[in-house]
Amino acid sequence: MTAKIISGTETAKAIREELKAEIAELKEKHNVVPGLVTILVGEDPASQSYVTAKNKTAHALGINSKQVTLSADTSEDDLLALIDKYNKDDACNGILVQLPLPKHINEGRVLYAINPVKDVDGFHPVNVGKMVLGEQCFLPCTPHGVLELLIRSGIETSGAEVVVVGRSNIVGKPMVNLMLQKREAGNATVTVCHTRTKDMASHTRRADIIIAAAGVPKMITADMVKEGVVIIDVGVNRIGMSESGKAILVGDVDFDSVKEKAAAITPVPGGVGPMTITMLMKNTVQAARQAAGWI
Ligand code: NAP
Repeated sequence: MTAKIISGTETAKAIREELKAEIAELKEKHNVVPGLVTILVGEDPASQSYVTAKNKTAHALGINSKQVTLSADTSEDDLLALIDKYNKDDACNGILVQLPLPKHINEGRVLYAINPVKDVDGFHPVNVGKMVLGEQCFLPCTPHGVLELLIRSGIETSGAEVVVVGRSNIVGKPMVNLMLQKREAGNATVTVCHTRTKDMASHTRRADIIIAAAGVPKMITADMVKEGVVIIDVGVNRIGMSESGKAILVGDVDFDSVKEKAAAITPVPGGVGPMTITMLMKNTVQAARQAAGWI
């Protein structure tokens, strides 16, 4: 069996077209333009490129997006004051603080300071709690992107054995919760693996769907999966540089061997990655609708 490739690039493109039309309609019919503020502290090159990509995508869709870049020695108080300013700014529907923050700033304090109705990253405890309860909220962008990929690829999760590898607050834990929900792309029987899991292969070999988010290059190999498995590879690992100076990226799954056994698989790059930014845009539009009384 050679796997069907689940293209995040294509799916993200389709969702962005839908969002573009939705944003144009919001402006035309209701004079509403969704507003997003991205805050970057410091000059980490990876963070800079993520923030640039987010702003570029937002602009292309018609979102009023503003990037604020602060120096690495910005104090926590100054950052909190800036968040407070945008919390009170009606033109701003979504606030995103790019992580990681410099060591002298308490990440939790900063994320908790964002008004939950503007928390388009879905990291505020109010949104995390609502997600666990299955209530309307902003879903964290990467797990949200995985859900959309599963839905739009027609992958049945109800009753499926799903193994999530990784239990971070931004990917693994929300992923586990979402797969459990009584909703579309949920209703799965979920197992979660982490560094203390004994004999991980005994779990992954039972899985109908594996969602890998460990950050370990090619850790899931063909002998660890069953025929017909669906693989969603969240991992993005830099393993070197090409001759042209571009980073060589691989996932947590050994794509070349596993694709021979899988029914469907996401590539890296071009899988979950493009979905993450797209879900940020979707959350920003949701925030604008919400602020305007769910128009
Ligand atoms: P993280 O915070 O480092 O968490 C990694 C998780 O994987 C931890 O729960 C860890 O277990 C588990 N783990 C690590 N090594 C393992 C092993 N050998 N066996 C079993 N479990 C193992 O990472 P993250 O932020 O969740 O990100 C995970 C990956 O997804 C990274 O490659 C990251 O770059 C990528 N990512 C991609 C996107 C995207 O848009 N495509 C977005 C976010 C993240 P313990 O809890 O026991 O330490």
